[in-house]
Amino acid sequence: MNLAAPVRGDEARHVLVIEDEPQMRSMLTDNLEFEGYRVTAVASGEEALQEVESRHYALLLLDLMLPGMSGFDVCQQLRARGRHVPIVVLTARTQEQDRIRGLDLGADDYVSKPFSVSELLARVRALVRRDDWHSPGSDEFTVGDIVVKPRQRLVLRKGRRVALSAREFELLRYLYVHRNEVVSREQLLRDVWGYSQLSVTRTVDNYVAKLRTHIEPRPHEPRYIITVHGSGYQLLA
Ligand code: CA
Repeated sequence: MNLAAPVRGDEARHVLVIEDEPQMRSMLTDNLEFEGYRVTAVASGEEALQEVESRHYALLLLDLMLPGMSGFDVCQQLRARGRHVPIVVLTARTQEQDRIRGLDLGADDYVSKPFSVSELLARVRALVRRDDWHSPGSDEFTVGDIVVKPRQRLVLRKGRRVALSAREFELLRYLYVHRNEVVSREQLLRDVWGYSQLSVTRTVDNYVAKLRTHIEPRPHEPRYIITVHGSGYQLLA
């Protein structure tokens, strides 16, 4: 794939569904198609990796419980290969441990089964719309010694690629668009995560902490993404 080529049209809304249960797979496919997405569905992690290597996807909807390679392995492998494609994880498990592990391995969001279709579609929409090349923050920008190329979803530090997840990437881009302003956690949840429920602001803190480890020379003494006590965060540029 040519990283420099902007993605347009169909590809910008092409979703890959990875789910081994046929009924769930066709339910997901039908609903996404009804919403206007182009959908490819596969039943295993191995097939998913092949698909991602062979074409551009706007988003992956990934079941964690798969025969053979697990959803966790798929996440980890894609991120290790420097693929920034947004990933929404589907889990039948209710344990918070699994969600946290999924997010640590590079997933961007999760939905627990059973889920409401409208909730799932909201999560998908929030991540897919970031592929809009004309939105603010789509031009190359720098933060300290970090160079960000949104069109290629590429982040470089002194010429070396930095592996950000899609969510970390969007967080950085959003903070940059609103640079030198104080941005509240609620605003970040609404605009970067697409959540209307405002009960999980700690999620934002965890992501900011992770983002700092990637872009700050000394993450515990941040120079670029600072905490504004009681208010939120501010990117200094
Ligand atoms: Ca399954």
